[in-house]
Amino acid sequence: MKICVPKETRPGETRVALAPEVCKKLIKTGYTIGVESGAGNLACYSDDAYREVGVVVESDAAALFGSADLVLSINPPAIGGAAGRNEVAWMRPGTIVLTSLMPLKNTDVVRALAERKVTAFSTDAIPRTTRAQAMDTLSSMANIRGYKGVLLAAAELPKYFPMFMTAAGTVFPAKVFVVGAAVAGLQAIATARRLGANVVATDVRPEVKEEIESLGAKFVGVELSGSASAGGGYAKELSEEDKKRQQEMLAEQCGIADVVITTALIGGVFAPKVISADIVHKMRRGSILVDLGADGGGNCELSKLGQTTVVNGITILAPLNLPATMPTHASLLFGRNLASFVDTFTKDNAFVVDLTDDIQQGAIVTHGGEILHEGTKKAMQSARAAGAPN
Ligand code: NAD
Repeated sequence: MKICVPKETRPGETRVALAPEVCKKLIKTGYTIGVESGAGNLACYSDDAYREVGVVVESDAAALFGSADLVLSINPPAIGGAAGRNEVAWMRPGTIVLTSLMPLKNTDVVRALAERKVTAFSTDAIPRTTRAQAMDTLSSMANIRGYKGVLLAAAELPKYFPMFMTAAGTVFPAKVFVVGAAVAGLQAIATARRLGANVVATDVRPEVKEEIESLGAKFVGVELSGSASAGGGYAKELSEEDKKRQQEMLAEQCGIADVVITTALIGGVFAPKVISADIVHKMRRGSILVDLGADGGGNCELSKLGQTTVVNGITILAPLNLPATMPTHASLLFGRNLASFVDTFTKDNAFVVDLTDDIQQGAIVTHGGEILHEGTKKAMQSARAAGAPN
């Protein structure tokens, strides 16, 4: 069975789905692997490094896709557009694709995959269960966002992060406020603590209080009128009344912080606008806001996605695709997650589609010409009802 790894074509992407180390393991399992020439260049994995572990490096992308039984990629396959290549059309019906499909955002790609009778699994829909932990690309990438977000803040802050006692006197540690304390937020707390900052964090799910405290940070919460949990550890949008209560607390905390890091997401996809323009205006001059919800649309009303802006002396960073700024490790970890999924469902040297398995059932988006992902079907129905073209 042949696994193919294309060169990513999304603008600004630097990662590759499999590092040579991961290819080596999959080849041992019995797979043949083809990698598009230059696919690993930006992640510092040369064509020769792939050849050394037994990968066939191929330069004809269409032929590579056409020969694949299983395609592994970071971003969804291209369907023309700016990429200038229709990777879905290059695949044979029955090909299996495992990628971060984000099906709710990429309904056009999902439709093309179904029409082409490609079986597509989305890594971001893999259930967040203990058994699936090793396959969790969302966590691997969120960890990088949390870590790198704090480093960006430290580089921008016109102050030290740690406390220093020097001959010139003492400087006090930076105050960091983290909003949203799941994987990215907890990593941001841990990184800011390692740099010596005083950290306060909040989340709408009160169950994270213990995790925040175990990292040496202080939890601040608000009493909500209803549960903010949407199940599976995900949060839902707050009611207007709860939003108001939360705004007061956020304004108070942001007003005394040197650094604010926001990581809030709804359903793991969309970023609620938790930091209003009013809150930004209450922040201190010289303070930094890093909006790690930028990929989901941004947590701050004043964020300009993908840009750094300065408002009244407050610097707002809204970086997109932060994992692509650390492509060597991002690719290595993403690839290990993919390999773990592939390995779990490999029998007699072949990947077996088994939709009775809870992990496959959660991650499947298209199969046999059908769209099976309930959330995507609903999103498409609502778009049709709102008059969007089919
Ligand atoms: P996420 O990116 O979906 O959300 C980030 C955080 O933002 C969440 O904690 C959420 O409660 C919070 N949030 C949403 N709205 C907010 C608001 N208005 N104000 C403040 N905070 C807000 O989270 P994630 O990192 O993808 O993790 C989702 C869940 O999966 C978590 O419960 C996590 O513990 C769990 N998880 C489980 C596994 C596993 O067992 N395999 C692995 C990783 C994560």
